[in-house]
Amino acid sequence: MPLDRFGRNINYLRISLIDHCNLRCVYCMPLDTTAYAPSSELLTAGEIERVARAAADVGFQKIRLTGGEPMLRSDLVDIVKRISRTDGIREVAMTTNGVLLAPKADELAAAGLGRVNLHIDSLDPERFARLMRFGTLRQAWAGLEAAERAGLSPIKINSVVTRGYNEEDVIELARLTLRNSWHVRFIELMPLGEGGCAKVARDNFVSSAETMRRIEDELGSLSSVQNTHPSDESVNFRLKGAKGIVGFISPVSDPYCGTCNRMRLNANGRFHLCLLSDDELDVRAALRNGSGDDAIRDILLQAVLAKPTGHRLSEGISTSNRSMFQIGG
Ligand code: SAM
Ligand code: SF4
Repeated sequence: MPLDRFGRNINYLRISLIDHCNLRCVYCMPLDTTAYAPSSELLTAGEIERVARAAADVGFQKIRLTGGEPMLRSDLVDIVKRISRTDGIREVAMTTNGVLLAPKADELAAAGLGRVNLHIDSLDPERFARLMRFGTLRQAWAGLEAAERAGLSPIKINSVVTRGYNEEDVIELARLTLRNSWHVRFIELMPLGEGGCAKVARDNFVSSAETMRRIEDELGSLSSVQNTHPSDESVNFRLKGAKGIVGFISPVSDPYCGTCNRMRLNANGRFHLCLLSDDELDVRAALRNGSGDDAIRDILLQAVLAKPTGHRLSEGISTSNRSMFQIGG
């Protein structure tokens, strides 16, 4: 069981497969981004499999694939297959904007993908386009329907609440849980990265408390639901008679660092120690210089031990120059 210096059991690895994206959400990715890792720097499917095996060997049980947009990896099905057949890995999940998911959902489920988190900020096609800038709500929705048909459940929808863009849309998103056993989770904006996106995130912040009030004013009270997993970052509720869950992820107003169980692997093969820190530990060099699996395990355990206690966003302090598309959320 990999314990860090603060006694946290770190058993959940988030692997960013690529730092490109087919969308450009206003708070995540500038329109003119060119600073992508060249494909020679991205970990290959075989290298990712080796890291997954090392992770399972030291006690990691859950792996999430993310990005950028993970669906842009042409070898995604192969990656899922390799990870899901790794002894000790109990769950393989993916976070995606869903725009490219529909034609691939069955194949991914057959390869061993267990479930998906879909990023949908608005159910209004125009406001979706204003926030996410490329792709369409219709495509993302087709991805959601295909995921449900393929049994990738429970479906979780992530929505980043951004003042002036979608803060009123939380009502219709929450309403989805009345008839569907989905989890709709509202995320507070984090001021990550540099330039325009960090500014949007700082200037357009909406607290979870405000979002919750808005939902309750319109749809009635939300009753607290016990989290099934103690390190679930979402604080969960249910509307009266609803099939699904309304969740709030509040990294700024209510940080969950104390129960953090995550390690992150960037697309270019560096363990990223905390979302809000730029400290990283390179594993790609070891993967490419003939080092054995024991060396990969050692680097991962060093990364676990080097994890910081937490971030200080609630004090307005961000210590990261990386954007979310570079880390994977
Ligand atoms: N492209 C995929 C997607 O959008 O789901 C996966 C990568 S994306 C970086 C992962 C998550 O990060 C998304 O759910 C997105 O909403 C969230 N995200 C991006 N920028 C954010 C920010 N500044 N603050 C909070 N969440 C953010
Ligand atoms: Fe792309 Fe996801 Fe970032 Fe939006 S949040 S730009 S979909 S990586």
